[in-house]
Amino acid sequence: MATLCKWVNSLFRLLFPHRCVVCNNLLTDDEKVLCQSCNLHLPRTNLHLQKDNEVEKLLWGKIDIVRATSYFYYTKGSGYRQLLHQLKYEGRKDIAQDIGYTLGQELANDGFFQDIDLIIPIPLHRRKHRSRGYNQSLEIGKGISQATGIRMETKCVARLRNTTSQTSKSTYERWENVSGIFVLRQPERLENQHILLLDDVMTTGATITACADALKSVPGIRISVLTLALAGK
Ligand SMILES: [Zn+2]
Repeated sequence: MATLCKWVNSLFRLLFPHRCVVCNNLLTDDEKVLCQSCNLHLPRTNLHLQKDNEVEKLLWGKIDIVRATSYFYYTKGSGYRQLLHQLKYEGRKDIAQDIGYTLGQELANDGFFQDIDLIIPIPLHRRKHRSRGYNQSLEIGKGISQATGIRMETKCVARLRNTTSQTSKSTYERWENVSGIFVLRQPERLENQHILLLDDVMTTGATITACADALKSVPGIRISVLTLALAGK
């Protein structure tokens, strides 16, 4: 049976070859989202290995966190932009899950997920969720959850407003845009838990901070932060 599955899979790959999202080269059976070379050159931040790193500094004085990091640096001209674009706007849930799984494994090896109880992906407003068909952060979370065994919690935080895109806004406007947009549901389920807030991109930290603001009143809660990409480098 296993041989048959492998054979069908190979035939499928022959008919519909997978390509690297960054360089568009054909992928081998062992490669998932990125080819070996693009994976090797992915601009990993490795900030989880640094105390008081730049992601943590973005959040200093705004929210109390245990630890925070981003997986890779995201710059406008870089080919790695495709990775984010595809998983966010082109319906490639599979990319989000695969990259989530990979980063989950890598960061777990370095102990980043130590004593984290729950992963909370930053929710989309339900209208946006419906029009896109999925929440990219939740899909990344599925991969991390699979790699680490940490449960995801998606019912306790809701987004009240559908904010306009943050990309064209100044820093001040970004903070104004997201302030007070998240609300807590069933907060008792989060009591005394160490939660990991998960988002796709961190720019100023405004969205993460707004979400953490909604959570901070929960007794005994501790918050860590992880984003797939860190913008502006
Ligand atoms: Zn490639």
